[in-house]
Amino acid sequence: MSEHEFKAYNKKSLNKIKYLDRIDPEIKKDIEICTNIIPFRVSSYVIDELIDWDKVPDDPIFQMTFPQPGMIGTEKFNKLKFLYLNGQNEDFNTEVRNIHFAMNPHPAGQKDMNIPVMDNRTLPGMQHKYDETVLFFPSQGQLCHSFCTYCFRWAQFIGLQDLKFSSREKESLYRYITINPLITDLLFTGGDPMVMKASVIEKYVEPFIQQKPDHLQNIRFGTKALAYWPYRFFDDKDSDELMRLFEKIVDKGYHLAVMAHFSHYRELETPAVEKAVKRLRSVGAQIRCQAPLIKNINDKSIVWEKMWKDQVKLGAVPYYFFVERDTGPKNYFEVPLVKALEIFTNAYRNVSGLARTVRGPSMSAGPGKILLEDINEINGEKVFVLKFVQSRIKEFVNKVFFAKYNENASWIDDLEPAFGEKEFFYEKRYSELRNNKINILKNCVK
Ligand code: SF4
Repeated sequence: MSEHEFKAYNKKSLNKIKYLDRIDPEIKKDIEICTNIIPFRVSSYVIDELIDWDKVPDDPIFQMTFPQPGMIGTEKFNKLKFLYLNGQNEDFNTEVRNIHFAMNPHPAGQKDMNIPVMDNRTLPGMQHKYDETVLFFPSQGQLCHSFCTYCFRWAQFIGLQDLKFSSREKESLYRYITINPLITDLLFTGGDPMVMKASVIEKYVEPFIQQKPDHLQNIRFGTKALAYWPYRFFDDKDSDELMRLFEKIVDKGYHLAVMAHFSHYRELETPAVEKAVKRLRSVGAQIRCQAPLIKNINDKSIVWEKMWKDQVKLGAVPYYFFVERDTGPKNYFEVPLVKALEIFTNAYRNVSGLARTVRGPSMSAGPGKILLEDINEINGEKVFVLKFVQSRIKEFVNKVFFAKYNENASWIDDLEPAFGEKEFFYEKRYSELRNNKINILKNCVK
């Protein structure tokens, strides 16, 4: 018998969140309008146990889950508010649609470069950007226990089917992996695959347990359930069934990786998350932790330092410190790269070697994952030292390159090559890929 029944609020039930009665009604109305642009869903756990309501609206977990006008931009928001308050529904809906499409719904070539092809057809609920790893978006997992306002997958949640990755094709997934011997990792992602019942997850995993492809080593689940609903792992009706499934995965010889998304140390402080982490570790799962750097939420070194220390204390592994991607409300959340490096470095210097498994600041860009390693002066020129840690093009991995120092830049696209070069070393090959869709052909199995 579970003690904690999952409950979430969305834009229709926003008014039922009793804590919101404490805040200025005008701010509440603005939040209501913003939920038409930024997907909104928040669990009772986040409301009752994570948000410090005495510190709203500055509280980082509130910022992380409640959409606000600044995320849309003053001009756009004011127009939206005018249409909303004047009941101009048709124009309001058109404006909502326009804002959505202006927010770069599928960054880094996700739609045109990552979708694999098999038997002369695309596999729409999958992405295969790097040789080793296939991402699968199970249809039933395209939701989260709560939504993050900064989510780079926000397009999954706005109800437009053509913007959505999702699939129920477990046979295609299995076949695609079995015939691609370079694939070592299968990542179930979303949304959040942990919103699915254990029995549904099992349907997707079962073929891989029945017959393990030799080359497939790692099964990963990308999830924020540890932060948004830790009871998922020990107190939901099917938590035990889920743990038994995880044990089966491990017994079959896979490395089971829970790719946990923690954005702030507060998410690691409740008894529930501690219990959930212990439970996951007891069945052999390895927990790796990652999050983007987000202004107004975690843009201080001390937040990361404490978070990485707390993760290690619980037995989890700090993994990635990402730079906010070029999508959604990026302008509201972005932190300049110079500042990102400073925050990362100050936190990194204050943790022991066990936490220095973390990599960052990392940009998940079109050609690959690019780290800002350092700021340096070479031959009298101040430069950013950058490095690929992952790429569509294998030869790029671990390559260092240089960009002109730019204190306002917040993404790779804002940078220019150093030393008078006309373009970065990767640009020619990458644009050939983009123009010819070579990546798709490479993955194509006839
Ligand atoms: S949990 Fe992940 S997928 Fe879900 S809203 Fe947050 S960032 Fe997006």
